[in-house]
Amino acid sequence: MNVALIAHDAKKELMVQFCIAYCGILSRYNICATGTTGKLVGEATGLQIQRFLSGSQGGDQQIASAISCNEVDLLIFFRDPLTMKSHEPNDINILRLCDVHNIPVATNIATAEALIHALENGDLDWREYMR
Ligand code: PGA
Repeated sequence: MNVALIAHDAKKELMVQFCIAYCGILSRYNICATGTTGKLVGEATGLQIQRFLSGSQGGDQQIASAISCNEVDLLIFFRDPLTMKSHEPNDINILRLCDVHNIPVATNIATAEALIHALENGDLDWREYMR
């Protein structure tokens, strides 16, 4: 199972704290992330993370591509809902692709916690059969 992480700047600390809290669960899966998010989470948790480019440099599009290729089973995408981003259309596209490919996605910590427990309980294992 492959878990992808993206956090906008205002949400990076939240992502780090989330990943510290659930490091034990996340360590059982393949983790990928946009550049800065992956760097911060990796440093804070010691998790092995496949790091793509920084979001503004195209890392978000690399994750979009992975979603399209059915290489992402769960996306945790902590968006900053209060600040307009220059690459916001890419963010919308990522969420669109999750809907196209039926990928579980969390855009806030309440949903992320629900999905991480679902992952731990094997409730998302059906994704494996979709390959
Ligand atoms: P980053 O990219 O993790 O490289 O900062 C995330 C984003 O799209 O802001």
